[in-house]
Amino acid sequence: MSFIVAIDGPAGSGKGTVAKKISELFGLLNIDTGAMYRCITLEMINQKINLEEIQKIIDISKNIDIDMKENGTILLNGKDVTKEIRSKEVSGLVSQVSSITEVRLNMVNLQRKMAENKNVIMEGRDITTYVFPNADVKIYLDASVEERAKRRFLEMQEKGITTTFDEVLENIKKRDENDRHKEIGSLMIAPDAAVVDTTNYSIDEVVNKISNIIKEKK
Ligand code: C5P
Repeated sequence: MSFIVAIDGPAGSGKGTVAKKISELFGLLNIDTGAMYRCITLEMINQKINLEEIQKIIDISKNIDIDMKENGTILLNGKDVTKEIRSKEVSGLVSQVSSITEVRLNMVNLQRKMAENKNVIMEGRDITTYVFPNADVKIYLDASVEERAKRRFLEMQEKGITTTFDEVLENIKKRDENDRHKEIGSLMIAPDAAVVDTTNYSIDEVVNKISNIIKEKK
């Protein structure tokens, strides 16, 4: 038996930060599904494959070796790509890559396997609706688009990635649009998900709210 906490929400809504803290508090395995789509995108760029070469991208998604360490390190085919997968180039292409249906099906299979017989917190766009519609806890995190862009911009500055606020805002708006209109696995609010708007709350306040929801279900 496994216990599954599923969190969805748009880019910059706080999923990554909150999921990490909740995973530590409740001893859950933290699975960042966005990082998986980012790994495929990075591999595609490294192999100089373009977006029109759909079959080659599908082949990457079939054979890719992604390892997520407990400390947050992400290994792609054995190499540490934790920082690289957050680059502007990857962020600019990942939404189109994740729109390819076969790529999604391969990743969803992998995500379900990763969670088998484990207690996990899994975050993404389609976890509460498609990957684990029967998850024990279902959360939809949201925030205004300006606030989300502000968070991402600060995050990128801290990582030393050169960019502007407007560029980040534009990327987030484009991804929102794309992520909400996919053939399968579109970003939407599951009818039975608890919606938490993080715009005016601190990380700790959000973690508290979610902890209380989890405690009620445990
Ligand atoms: O969460 P993150 O911003 O890292 O996700 C990167 C991209 O991966 C998203 O913009 C989305 O296109 C895609 N994604 C997805 N389904 C998920 C998680 C992420 O399509 N479950």
